[in-house]
Amino acid sequence: SSSSSSELITASDTYSAHNYHPLPVVVASADGAWVTDVEGNRYLDMLAGYSALNFGHGNRRLVDAAKAQLDRLTLTSRAFHHDRFAAFCSSLAELCGMEMVLPMNTGAEAVETAVKTARKWGYQVKGVPDGQAKIVVAENNFHGRTTTIVSFSTDEEARASFGPYTPGFEIVPYGDLAAMEAAVDENTVAVLLEPIQGEAGVLVPPPGYLPAVRELTRSRNTLFILDEIQSGLGRTGATFACEHEDVVPDMYVLGKALGGGIVPVSAVVSSRAVLGVFKPGEHGSTFGGNPLACAVAQEVVDMLRSGEYQQRATELGEHLHRELGVLAGEGPVRAVRGRGLWAGVDIDPARGTGRQISEQLMERGVLVKDTHGSTIRIAPPLVISKEDLDWGLNQLRAVLGTT
Ligand code: PLP
Repeated sequence: SSSSSSELITASDTYSAHNYHPLPVVVASADGAWVTDVEGNRYLDMLAGYSALNFGHGNRRLVDAAKAQLDRLTLTSRAFHHDRFAAFCSSLAELCGMEMVLPMNTGAEAVETAVKTARKWGYQVKGVPDGQAKIVVAENNFHGRTTTIVSFSTDEEARASFGPYTPGFEIVPYGDLAAMEAAVDENTVAVLLEPIQGEAGVLVPPPGYLPAVRELTRSRNTLFILDEIQSGLGRTGATFACEHEDVVPDMYVLGKALGGGIVPVSAVVSSRAVLGVFKPGEHGSTFGGNPLACAVAQEVVDMLRSGEYQQRATELGEHLHRELGVLAGEGPVRAVRGRGLWAGVDIDPARGTGRQISEQLMERGVLVKDTHGSTIRIAPPLVISKEDLDWGLNQLRAVLGTT
């Protein structure tokens, strides 16, 4: 009873909400950097689940950790303790150079948790008058899809028709230090930024911006929260993107790759002074920190401790950006941005939309995803081989007519 790709797509369109517009490929299995569709065609995955698959599809260590835990214990809820929790929290805190972890499931939940933590810290520790807490965020941010998070989005598609909006957020241009200085006032409990804006098109802020925001928030007794959900855990060639600027935030927000591409795992990681504001009953999640999630995420943390994935992302990333840099000088490639094994490539709109380019790449066996307009993003699993990466780049050259 095997259905064809087109039958499965038609059925998906019939029975599921159209909140996505997937490329017309139906994946049935995968290994490493490659996926196979229901007809047996193979594709090189150069998106890696928006960086959730940093360690590749079917990573042996991670699958083994998950399988062993599946047979032992999968869920207790936080009503009881379980034997995988402490080790996961302590090793993630240590990886981050922090003291405490608050585990959740999805990225958006972790961002919500960060917002709630900052507000509570603001009222209880900083002494902001009740109901007055302000959080400063950046234009073109992407932090998730909840009603509060879309309240501070500047993307009309993400925001329109979902009001009334949560107050308490001020939006400033990304990379503009003067605007940030003007926005941070005595009621500001946090500045929340992506160290590199992923969904916006892999935008790297000007050098010195993140350190200056670090200095500003420190001097004004405001928390600096970095959303490293997409940028963190090896993608840029470091455990965290902010390391490239020698910045240490007050709080990391993590997700995606933390679950090894197997289970949703997210977390807020911070100091005792900050996460210590929570008392029992004030926040929670049935699945947050469950044994299966802890087993997989613990393995992810152990893998990152060796530094080998960061090293791979550095070396392959240098190669990727060298090759893309050549393309940027010619043909329809307008600009290339990014860091490590992560790139946003702006294509001349006359050559096609990002969607059209992505479809043409798909026909040549490469999966990528457009962001806004005519930008495509490249973020293969960090385990991709150099040969496969080169093959993928050759398909891009062929599509752009720059071979
Ligand atoms: N924050 C950033 C920087 C992201 O890139 C994303 C997802 O793309 C999120 C938050 C939301 O994560 P999730 O889709 O798991 O809710």
